[in-house]
Amino acid sequence: MITTGFVSADSRVLSVALAGNPNAGKSTIFNALTGARQHVGNWPGKTVEKKTGELFLDGRRLNITDLPGTYSLSAYTLEEIVARDFLLEERPDVVVAVVDATNLERNLYLVVQLLELGLPTLLVLNMMDVAGEQGLDIDTVELSLSLGVPIVPTVASREQGIDDVIAGACRAATEPANPCLPEYLPQVEREIARLQNIINEHDAIRDVYSPRWLALRLLEGDSDVAERVGSLPGGSSLLAEAIERGAVLAAELEEDVDLTIADQRYRWIHALVGRVVRARPAHSLSRSDRIDRFVTDRRFGIPIFLLAMWIVFKFTTDLSAPWVDWLDAVLTGPVSRWAVAVLGAVGMGGTWVESLVVDGVIAGVGGVLAFIPVLAALYFALAILEDSGYMARGAFVMDRMMNRIGLHGRSFLPLMVGFGCSVPAIYATRTLTNNRDRILTGLLVPFMSCGARLPVYVLFAAIFLPRSSSLVILGLYLLGVIVAILVGLTLQRTILPATAAPGLVMELPPYRLPNWRGIRNNVWLRTRSFLQHAASLILVTSMAIWLLMAIPTGGQGSFADTPMADSAFGRLSTALTPVLRPLGFGSWQSGGALISGLVAKEVVISTMAQTYGTEATEDVGQPTTFFGDLLEIASSFIQAVIDTLKAIPGMIGINLGSAEESGEPELSAAIRSSFETTSGGHAAAAGLAFMVFVLLYTPCMATIAAERHEFGRRWAILSLVGQLIIAWVGAFIVFRLGVALGG
Ligand code: GDP
Ligand code: MG
Repeated sequence: MITTGFVSADSRVLSVALAGNPNAGKSTIFNALTGARQHVGNWPGKTVEKKTGELFLDGRRLNITDLPGTYSLSAYTLEEIVARDFLLEERPDVVVAVVDATNLERNLYLVVQLLELGLPTLLVLNMMDVAGEQGLDIDTVELSLSLGVPIVPTVASREQGIDDVIAGACRAATEPANPCLPEYLPQVEREIARLQNIINEHDAIRDVYSPRWLALRLLEGDSDVAERVGSLPGGSSLLAEAIERGAVLAAELEEDVDLTIADQRYRWIHALVGRVVRARPAHSLSRSDRIDRFVTDRRFGIPIFLLAMWIVFKFTTDLSAPWVDWLDAVLTGPVSRWAVAVLGAVGMGGTWVESLVVDGVIAGVGGVLAFIPVLAALYFALAILEDSGYMARGAFVMDRMMNRIGLHGRSFLPLMVGFGCSVPAIYATRTLTNNRDRILTGLLVPFMSCGARLPVYVLFAAIFLPRSSSLVILGLYLLGVIVAILVGLTLQRTILPATAAPGLVMELPPYRLPNWRGIRNNVWLRTRSFLQHAASLILVTSMAIWLLMAIPTGGQGSFADTPMADSAFGRLSTALTPVLRPLGFGSWQSGGALISGLVAKEVVISTMAQTYGTEATEDVGQPTTFFGDLLEIASSFIQAVIDTLKAIPGMIGINLGSAEESGEPELSAAIRSSFETTSGGHAAAAGLAFMVFVLLYTPCMATIAAERHEFGRRWAILSLVGQLIIAWVGAFIVFRLGVALGG
């Protein structure tokens, strides 16, 4: 049907690129088109990687690429380079330029550059709902005529207009691009024409680049484009000419050519927007501004930010606690009983296989599964902050502080992501423009307390400082931040001196009611990636540790029936105790937990459960019926729902009865008495020191792998060793202080 004039290797495949400013809604549209689940958030600059997905339509395949958000197509940032390389090299059949309708003037700057590229383009005016609320009337017909491109208005978050986008893109791909572009000053146009003539003489160049775009870029002094063209036949003479003409032009204009061109582009767009947009007086703008005046205030900004963080962590710990208990009870009770029953039925009851399954696999994996509620609650809270638009304010408020440690406000994003998981945070440093900023930020990320450390704090705070556990946990998060600041200052004065910091280029997205579908996706994506990352690693670690514990050293015991302290693992951990003794937790069990915690923080507690021999398998042998077990699971589930509801008023300071009535779990008791002994009666101080150690040392092997991948082996090793030293010193100070203060 629609094939006329449409040239492609395979006419049934159409390649579509989504381009636009950050936060314009590209990923939302991408998800709506492809049914994929991509990270969507109210936050500038999230996507650096381009993502691809497919859509099938009438037997035809649309290959859709979500490009990183950019403000222009110059090659200053990684996002711009990724986006531009794709457009230049892949030459998609159609570019879908996604534009935030509430911010037309700024968004059109990129659109004009896209049009100059000469690719068929469809303009998508997204966020039409918000534009309506703000009282903006956009004359789409006039806009479409003025730019010479088709336009589709959408509300992507409600999937309105998505079908029109598909139809529009297919149609645009079949028609040759014929955009109306800004005219520059006569002198500039003269030089463009001159270079265009040269370009047209060289087929090798003309076939790859739109002549007008190339002439402009060369006059603007784009070194990346110059490099590409230089290697083509006829390229060097073209470059020589461009440099010469550029110099002549600059002298004539008495200004840099690229500034003149940018200025002309802005003027042209300004005039255009003046013609097509009519603003009715509206209040919503000023409401957002009024909130911002308060939230980003010099005095209130940081306290408000800290309060927001406190609410997040209170929410995370209080609301998830009943679910942790429930999952834990189900796994150690009925599930373990069933496993034993099944193994018994196939004649393996009481063998080492049973030990491996119950003590290794269920204890290890169960330890991870039980904390899914904690992470899901944390991710949920962070997603709400992000989607509502507050996160960007947080970054804005923190920018002043970030500058003091020689970082850009944008470094705040990776650091914030680090509170979820260090691994994606390391990758998020790609949004930074210079390498020094990336490395410095990457080295500081591990001090942001990741989600996997939280379970350790929750357990230890409940054991040693039950009355102020929320405060202790918040304190640990803050300590991580403080240490990061100190490390940042030190690195800045030593091996990573500050380069000229660019000003804060960060827009504040409008406040928005959270989009629940987006939030559900975020929580699911992050939790799933945690599970994928954790499950296999943790399963392997748990089994390896089980094996180390099963191997006897010395005369006593036989395989899988060795006294714990005599096993290979016990010996290894014991070797570590002299180092840990000054910190107040010099037992081999603590040492062992820290060793396996080096692989992943998720296993610290499960290792303790194994080494203290307290996984609740004590009732495994008791006869229960299958239906009895199901009933138990169901009734404890209901109890968890009730406890969650009870926790909600507790979060705002009302306490409905104490949750600590039930007897203390066995593991907590074992840890408490062990710490009591190793610390010489200062168990609380030792417990705190242990938490500080867990906070400050290497988050996990995957983080080290990510650092190595992104920054090289040298920096990864520095990070690993440096963190171990910092953790030891930090824990030592905390323990000594605690002892001195009588903890
Ligand atoms: P990207 O940075 O261009 O990929 O933008 P995203 O797709 O991540 O969207 C940024 C934010 O805008 C998210 O919070 C979306 O839920 C929201 N959003 C996207 N499209 C619309 C829309 O049409 N209307 C409204 N109100 N919000 C939208
Ligand atoms: Mg995106």
